[in-house]
Amino acid sequence: MIFVFTAEIDAEAIARFEAEVRRAGGEPQRLASGPDGRRAIECRGALPRDVVAALAKQTGVAFVLESSVAYPKVAAAAPTVRVGKALFGGPEIVLIAGPCAVESEAQLEACARAASAAGATVLRGGAFKPRTSPYSFQGSGETAVGLLRAVADRHGLAVVTEVLSPDAVPLVAEHADMLQVGSRNMQNFALLRAVGQSTRPVLLKRGMSATLEEWLLAAEYIANAGNERIVLCERGVRHFDPAARNLLDLAAVPLIRARTALPIIVDPSHGVGVRSAIPAMALAAAAAGADGVMLECHPDPGAAKSDGFQALLPEQLIELGERIRAVAACVRT
Ligand code: PEP
Ligand code: MN
Repeated sequence: MIFVFTAEIDAEAIARFEAEVRRAGGEPQRLASGPDGRRAIECRGALPRDVVAALAKQTGVAFVLESSVAYPKVAAAAPTVRVGKALFGGPEIVLIAGPCAVESEAQLEACARAASAAGATVLRGGAFKPRTSPYSFQGSGETAVGLLRAVADRHGLAVVTEVLSPDAVPLVAEHADMLQVGSRNMQNFALLRAVGQSTRPVLLKRGMSATLEEWLLAAEYIANAGNERIVLCERGVRHFDPAARNLLDLAAVPLIRARTALPIIVDPSHGVGVRSAIPAMALAAAAAGADGVMLECHPDPGAAKSDGFQALLPEQLIELGERIRAVAACVRT
């Protein structure tokens, strides 16, 4: 949305206008004056229609232009997504926790107990695993999805799990409360359309080398197929230094905020991939204003079938949950 002002408007009135836009949740950006000297402000973020109408009527506003946003549905999407007891984008930060992959009922039960004690409201766990190597553990499929449901129900948790292909969407949607589209599938357009036709909310992870624009366009595929209940998940991008598995781009949180009201969460487990660094980055995610944090845990990381090196122990998860909420309380209003 671009507001073009009359030539007479003064700097003070412009500053007042910008403050009003910010109060309404938008991000004003001054555009260079046109040849006729008229000033204009582009407002990013999802401004409610009644606010736009009120701003358009203000003295000094000559006219309003619709800016050509590439992802109009995502730009105007609602700011909250409910999944069971979790309200992404609500006043409380949401904690998702669980193993990288579902391995056994005992392993999942230990994770769910820790997740619950940590204050998590959503249990994660891979059933269909998108492994880089075809020789790595691929997940236990349907059995794992059933286990997730049963164990989560015992603890009053919701379930999020990854879906790898369009034909698996009905099965996963039957048992899970939220469908995860993983980093490797962020631009799998057939999958994006399929989860877009589902009634389940979608956790859309950022592709490992995707720009924010590409990520939001992937979300637009889902929204355009009919499902606007999308939560974005920053999980780190490729970089040059093998010291960490990925480079966790926490700046994505405020940068995304300026483009869409959709909730955004952070996954420091895959984002860093080094157990000892994960608590600090989880707290930093909360400080950056993330609507949620997703953490991998395992009762015996040394025996894990995948990502054991980045799994938190149950007691670490429980301790971290409380600290995440304390940091979030400082920045969430
Ligand atoms: C996961 O969360 O299980 C996962 C595979 O993560 P990513 O898609 O971010 O690599
Ligand atoms: Mn993992």
